[in-house]
Amino acid sequence: MHCPFCRHADSRVIDSRTSDDGLSIRRRRQCPECGGRFSTMETASLNVIKRSGVIEPFSREKVISGVRKACQGRPVTEADLAVLAQAVEEAVRQTGSSQIDTNDLGLAILEPLRTLDEVAYLRFASVYQAFDSLEDFESSIAQLRADHAAASE
Ligand SMILES: [Zn+2]
Repeated sequence: MHCPFCRHADSRVIDSRTSDDGLSIRRRRQCPECGGRFSTMETASLNVIKRSGVIEPFSREKVISGVRKACQGRPVTEADLAVLAQAVEEAVRQTGSSQIDTNDLGLAILEPLRTLDEVAYLRFASVYQAFDSLEDFESSIAQLRADHAAASE
């Protein structure tokens, strides 16, 4: 790629390292013309297909903003949300697909959110899965209780 300093058409990779989450590679580059150093990030593309059919790049920030409302008043920190968004991205990438629709993305969010905070999970699920009756809440809560019972045995 072009040197950002002198626009020279070539650059040399002097160091590559994989990010801690293993999802991106950061390369240090040096321009052979002016000696300027800069970094590039390389990630596999991952797109979200919205209900409208519009395709946009997957964004952890959008996952977080989608979940934040459900977490209002709950003991969930920004760091927790960042970890959740990373878990969602890893789960989506593990499917081996470079595209996901918003429906499947919502499903990918539910599991880590449930581990993080069950009240936030119920709130998010109620909106996302369009709960329209108390029975929907009851069956979700019954499922949570059953899993608690199974876990404590
Ligand atoms: Zn240069």
